[in-house]
Amino acid sequence: EKNSARHMIVMKFGGTSVGSSAMIRQVTEIVRRAQSRRPLVVVSAASKVTDMLLDAARQALEGGRAAALRAPVGERESALLAELGLPLDLVEDLLDELLRLLEGVSLLGELTPRSLDRIASLGERMSARLVARAMDESGLPARDFAAWELGLRTDSTFGCARMLAEAPRAMRQAWESLAPDVVPVVTGFIGQDEAGRITTLGRGGSDLSAALFGAALGAEIIEIWTDVSGIMTCDPRVVRAARVLPRLAFAEAAELAYFGAKVLHPKTIEPAMRAGIPVWVKNTFKPEDPGTEIVARVDTRTSGPVGISMRRKVTCVNLMSTGMLESCGFVARVFEAFARHSVPIDVISTSEVQVSFTVTAPREQIEAAARELGDAAQVTLVPDRAVVCLVGEGMKTTAGLAGRAFSTLGAAGVNIEMISQGASEINVTFVVADSDCEAAVRALHAHFFEPG
Ligand code: ADP
Ligand code: ASP
Ligand code: MG
Repeated sequence: EKNSARHMIVMKFGGTSVGSSAMIRQVTEIVRRAQSRRPLVVVSAASKVTDMLLDAARQALEGGRAAALRAPVGERESALLAELGLPLDLVEDLLDELLRLLEGVSLLGELTPRSLDRIASLGERMSARLVARAMDESGLPARDFAAWELGLRTDSTFGCARMLAEAPRAMRQAWESLAPDVVPVVTGFIGQDEAGRITTLGRGGSDLSAALFGAALGAEIIEIWTDVSGIMTCDPRVVRAARVLPRLAFAEAAELAYFGAKVLHPKTIEPAMRAGIPVWVKNTFKPEDPGTEIVARVDTRTSGPVGISMRRKVTCVNLMSTGMLESCGFVARVFEAFARHSVPIDVISTSEVQVSFTVTAPREQIEAAARELGDAAQVTLVPDRAVVCLVGEGMKTTAGLAGRAFSTLGAAGVNIEMISQGASEINVTFVVADSDCEAAVRALHAHFFEPG
């Protein structure tokens, strides 16, 4: 397998990159220049469209009128089509599908995860068709595909489906049967289960789609084209002085993404890393900017962190137990209870009498998990917390880093409620009040990244 000369690249374009006619033209030119490298293009829904679809679904559940709820999405797509000079009925069938789905939700007063995924899928399906057609009309032969038409099958976990183990083989077969001179434009974010029902990979999941195709097809490179010039020291919307990182290790990128750097979906790294494929994050608005390269390992790196990420609006769970904690299996039981309610646990800290951890999930789910612990522990939930995370391979070898972070936050008047260092030693994590989050991130950024 490995030796077959399967030269190809994956290029994924996010919501803003396909969110206006000017950007779609820009995308076309970027792909045209890469044509000889056999690109497989993965696209997101045009920016805001996924949110609009999910909003429409929720309002339909509350009895809203389907036709009125569909209108904003219809107008957004029509505007794009008109600007691009494409036939206005290009996505008519998909808009009809949306109308029927919303009518169903409204009529039944029921919105299952399965219906929600089907509704959410329409953003990417419209986008792929529109982008492929725009390319085609401008002389770059292209054709749109739903991800499953190219073999991307998933399990049936609606809302965060996982690719099936046998899918990569089907993806390779599909790829090999494609006409080499027609650019395939594939839907990100979505898949189909074995029964043919549409699933989604989770919010921001188009990055993951790109990585899954890249890994399955043995791509030379996976390019994630977005609206910033790479992965930065921090979210540029929070810290204006954030700067682009030219190179990052897979582990660092994964850690930053996991703790909230939206620029890359946290699960993207794993398939690319396992297949040994470099990932580049590039700016569609400024294609000449070098971007960020994510590689297996970075050799000697300057000491200290490479970036700061934040995850907002988390809940801190404190468990007090008398006598229970030292008994074997208590912590395991706690984690099992939360797992059963699909509440992932982020940051953990334990002492002899207390276990604390942060979770990101709807309040009802957290409460249900906590109830299961019954009398085994006294549980308090503290909402509106934030996780701030310093990340970098170089932190392993830098003594006193946590101390410096501590005094920096102290000087900024930020109270640290919890601290934790990952076993990999590439992160140091603080839990603070959500209202302190931006101040904490700015102070840390100034200390570690803005010398002088
Ligand atoms: P796309 O639609 O292309 O997938 P996203 O909106 O999902 O784009 O991700 C890009 C955004 O991620 C940027 O506009 C930026 O505001 C945000 N972001 C958060 N943390 C970082 C970071 N460390 N580096 C770069 N961008 C970041
Ligand atoms: N359109 C989807 C979302 O908004 C997937 C993506 O953009 O990656 O979550
Ligand atoms: Mg994204």
